[in-house]
Amino acid sequence: MKLLLVGAPGSGKGTQAGLLSQQLSVEHLSSGELLRHEIEAATELGHQVEQLISRGDLVPDELVLDLMMPHIEAATDRGGWLVDGFPRTVPQAQQAYARARVHDALLDRVVHLEAEPEALLDRLLARAAEQGRADDTEQTVRHRMEVYRAQTEPLVDYYGDRGLLLTVEAEGSVETVNAAIRAGLRA
Ligand code: AMP
Repeated sequence: MKLLLVGAPGSGKGTQAGLLSQQLSVEHLSSGELLRHEIEAATELGHQVEQLISRGDLVPDELVLDLMMPHIEAATDRGGWLVDGFPRTVPQAQQAYARARVHDALLDRVVHLEAEPEALLDRLLARAAEQGRADDTEQTVRHRMEVYRAQTEPLVDYYGDRGLLLTVEAEGSVETVNAAIRAGLRA
């Protein structure tokens, strides 16, 4: 199984991706986690992306494609994957498709976690108070939401047009949302 999870900041995609990857026995690949790891390890890539991430802007498509595609191809050979956070723009999706096709690593389904932006803002601002992620200040959270609407949400129609989309209501307990995703994937 090769799955992509799409959802606004605060929609719970990281949590659901972690759970689902265990339930489906596939690797969980998170572009945000991998990028934060590069920053922590003080790599060249980490330096290039640090300020963009802390401002809530997206990292350039080429950088993230070069980071993610080798992981995706390797995980394909190991039995499948669940990616959260990549592709995040239509151009990324188009380029990922072109590269994945060559490696027989095309995705099977896209799970879209749908929620009202206002509810998400409340959730994120609460998380900001608890965890203090560098890109979780109120101003950055609002900016990430705008970036999501402008650059990532068009992916919903992109994958919908290709018949790959499963949309699940993201407001609800972790268990309820998880059950809805699993039921949708079985259907
Ligand atoms: P996330 O943990 O998915 O919220 O990602 C955290 C941050 O990493 C985002 O706000 C972006 O700055 C960056 N990022 C993660 N994935 C991508 C991607 N596919 N394209 C561009 N930037 C990304």
